[in-house]
Amino acid sequence: MNRKLIFAANWKMNKGPSETEDFLKSFLSKIQGQNFGSDIVIAPPFVSLSKLADVLHTRTAGANSPTIEIAAQNCSEHDSGAFTGEISVMMLREFFVHYVILGHSERRSLYGEVDAVINQKILKARDANLKPIFCIGETLAEREAGKLEAVLRTQISGGLHQVSEKDLSEIIIAYEPVWAIGTGVTATSEQAQDAHAFVRSVIADLYGADAAAKIRIQYGGSVKPGNAAELMACPDIDGALIGGAALDAQSFLEIIKNGSAQ
Ligand code: PEP
Repeated sequence: MNRKLIFAANWKMNKGPSETEDFLKSFLSKIQGQNFGSDIVIAPPFVSLSKLADVLHTRTAGANSPTIEIAAQNCSEHDSGAFTGEISVMMLREFFVHYVILGHSERRSLYGEVDAVINQKILKARDANLKPIFCIGETLAEREAGKLEAVLRTQISGGLHQVSEKDLSEIIIAYEPVWAIGTGVTATSEQAQDAHAFVRSVIADLYGADAAAKIRIQYGGSVKPGNAAELMACPDIDGALIGGAALDAQSFLEIIKNGSAQ
């Protein structure tokens, strides 16, 4: 199965509108005229979505220049109303957002998001035709206790509860071992490949072999220009979700370039 790679930058709480503009000026000039054959996505903080959308829509890209799509880092599971500080999926649509990161380990551990809430957000995102980047992953303690597969299976079946096969085809899974996020410690390509193959087998159990063969599974956790090629060469790894190394235009570009060459 030939799955298109997808490289997504998760900027977390970094880069307001002016830094977003600076990044884009540099990144767009670097990628001009290059086509990597991979999907490229940037997820800035909410307040920078408008700047990202404006710059991308007024950009005069060369015929061969890659498209960049916009992601949000979260969304509400509700439509509207008394939810102070929350942002709805329909609001995101107004900023030309096409993807939304859901279930990130920082949302789970710092903001108490459990599988049931993540599931409601995934369903809400699909109602608005947004593509969830659905994050899953185990802690070091869970891995060392031999619970890797049980944790991943629970997160997958909880997050995808009542998600149809049709909607699944618009979802990207990001396998992000918590111990590798922002730590500089990357899973070895063998550890990552094993986990990805397991995730694909769980999708096969839930949706069948065809859906499992089609779904894209990104790896996330200290991806850098130097390890992107080895990770992307693994048969079940279909791209990367990148935090720290995607804050710098040159480094994000090199990850895309090195990873896409696989
Ligand atoms: C992330 O936050 O999704 C992530 C993978 O971060 P980092 O690349 O910095 O480990």
